[in-house]
Amino acid sequence: MKKSIIFSAPSGSGKTTVVNHLLKVLGDKLSFSISATTRKPRPNETHGKEYYFLEAEDFKQKAKNGEFLEFEEVYAGILYGTMWSEVHRIWDSNRAVIFDVDVKGGLNLKREFGDQALAIFLRPPSVEVLMERLTNRSTEVEHQLKERLAKANFELSFENQYDVVVINDNLEETLATCEKLVLDFINSPA
Ligand code: ADP
Ligand code: 5GP
Repeated sequence: MKKSIIFSAPSGSGKTTVVNHLLKVLGDKLSFSISATTRKPRPNETHGKEYYFLEAEDFKQKAKNGEFLEFEEVYAGILYGTMWSEVHRIWDSNRAVIFDVDVKGGLNLKREFGDQALAIFLRPPSVEVLMERLTNRSTEVEHQLKERLAKANFELSFENQYDVVVINDNLEETLATCEKLVLDFINSPA
């Protein structure tokens, strides 16, 4: 089985929440592709868990070596990338890979994997709700918050290129919907 699940959405839509839930309930079938980034860790983040936190030099060298399946400058001066080594590690353990990537990265992965990947776009009920959630999460300073919100409308315009769009309004419903989508996809004939 070499399947993948791709989650994309504007920052603050709930990807991390949904992906963590899926890993908790379907951990024997799924594993998270830990991306590399040049962003600094947040207080609750650990190297090798949420991300591999790299210096820009190191990231660029890895890119030159062809170690990334895709990478993007998602925010000004901050690079994020998916490593081939992660994908192979997970497939070798007979699990499906779950990706949390930005919209461009998500579509690149879908292009790479075709029918072997399910691309899910998680949408907030409105930009106002997105703003509220991002502000409440309190992980970004003002200018970063503005940058993320400014990018949201652009990202929302990509939703119809995804296999499925899930509106994350009521969290319990979203988790149940995503669980079913992922299980049906994993259990479908390869
Ligand atoms: P992302 O990974 O897409 O940036 P997060 O999973 O960090 O988003 O979610 C952003 C914030 O919104 C978090 O504080 C999370 O607890 C909250 N959140 C996620 N889904 C919902 C929901 N359906 N209703 C209310 N708050 C939510
Ligand atoms: P954050 O800084 O909030 O963790 O993530 C910022 C954005 O970068 C999110 O939209 C997230 O999905 C995206 N992202 C994380 N890892 C990757 C990656 O490997 N590739 C791409 N293209 N985007 C990523």
